[in-house]
Amino acid sequence: MWIDNDDRIMEILDYIEKPSKECFPVTCPICGKREGHLYFHRYMQGNARGGMWTWCSACRHSAHATYRVPKFWENLKDINFAKLASHPDYLEEKKNCIDEWNNKLIFKR
Ligand SMILES: [Zn+2]
Repeated sequence: MWIDNDDRIMEILDYIEKPSKECFPVTCPICGKREGHLYFHRYMQGNARGGMWTWCSACRHSAHATYRVPKFWENLKDINFAKLASHPDYLEEKKNCIDEWNNKLIFKR
């Protein structure tokens, strides 16, 4: 079960939109545990439109919305678009490679 009624979980976006010292997984804005994750998925190459997911593995808060994906973002090849849903069950399974990918993209920027 995911809890999707607390927008504070979207504060995880700050870690990727602004330069930050913390790498993923980041501190959850709700429970304070370092279990916060984020994934974007660009719908089409070269297009800013995509989806964003933020979630915490500890307190199970999550958010999903359509989003203007940052320019530097590249979809992670391991993620099967067909398996993405509004709740991050599939992303939770892949969180280790997602965190690694985020850190790589942030560092590269
Ligand atoms: Zn949390």
